[in-house]
Amino acid sequence: MYPLVDSHCHLNFPSLSEHLDKILDEMAHNGVGYALCVSVNLHDFPQVLDLAVRYPHIFASVGVHPDYENKVEPTVETLISLASHTKVVAIGETGLDYSRTKGNIGWQHDRFRNHIRAAREVNKPLIIHMREASADTLSILKEEQASEVGGVMHCFTESWEVAQQALDMNFYISYSGIVTFKNAASVREVAKKTPLNRLIIETDSPYLAPTPHRGTTNQPAFVRHVAEAIADLHGITLPQIANTTTNNFFSFIKKTNN
Ligand SMILES: [Zn+2]
Ligand SMILES: [Zn+2]
Repeated sequence: MYPLVDSHCHLNFPSLSEHLDKILDEMAHNGVGYALCVSVNLHDFPQVLDLAVRYPHIFASVGVHPDYENKVEPTVETLISLASHTKVVAIGETGLDYSRTKGNIGWQHDRFRNHIRAAREVNKPLIIHMREASADTLSILKEEQASEVGGVMHCFTESWEVAQQALDMNFYISYSGIVTFKNAASVREVAKKTPLNRLIIETDSPYLAPTPHRGTTNQPAFVRHVAEAIADLHGITLPQIANTTTNNFFSFIKKTNN
């Protein structure tokens, strides 16, 4: 079968990195050929990059998650310089998250804009984290002309209207194990409508383990369950969804799959 890709995981987090050999074996056993290890703060970025340098099938991103309130603020220049490595294929995760931050959220907006400016400068795609903040996220993406580089709306759980606006700005839509959750009928509805040529899949591991592994530590191998759920929704086979989402992943990172 064509290899699957986990387009968003946090392999450098201790719950995964402490068992790295086993995690990589499980990926191979489940036909998961590639994974993108996503940076959430600059302090941990060296570990993220190290994984991508050591393993040809692991890619890295650079960015600071909108939830990290007390971390060193990334400047456009810093992001540009860290993104220059060839294994750094995307900028993020970045975006807006109003679910935990109360009060002044101006700093989230400034940080988000810096990521978009850096992405345009280095011509690498954006990984967008958006939670309870879709209107502001979309308007900042528009204002900063993010469509020039595009990217992915990761772990998508928003409405079809939001999906359409993201698609219009050259973004891919990525679905996580949430599509396998019993109570996620509305996410499945949107996933079903998402055009197959713009859809990718992820685990967001170690979080959000899909059914039938709910409650355990998630890992990139489990992206196979996400693939099966999406294949079902679109009435196609697992090899077909693997082929499609893997090709989409490589177009998203602006590379060819060799
Ligand atoms: Zn996220
Ligand atoms: Zn994440």
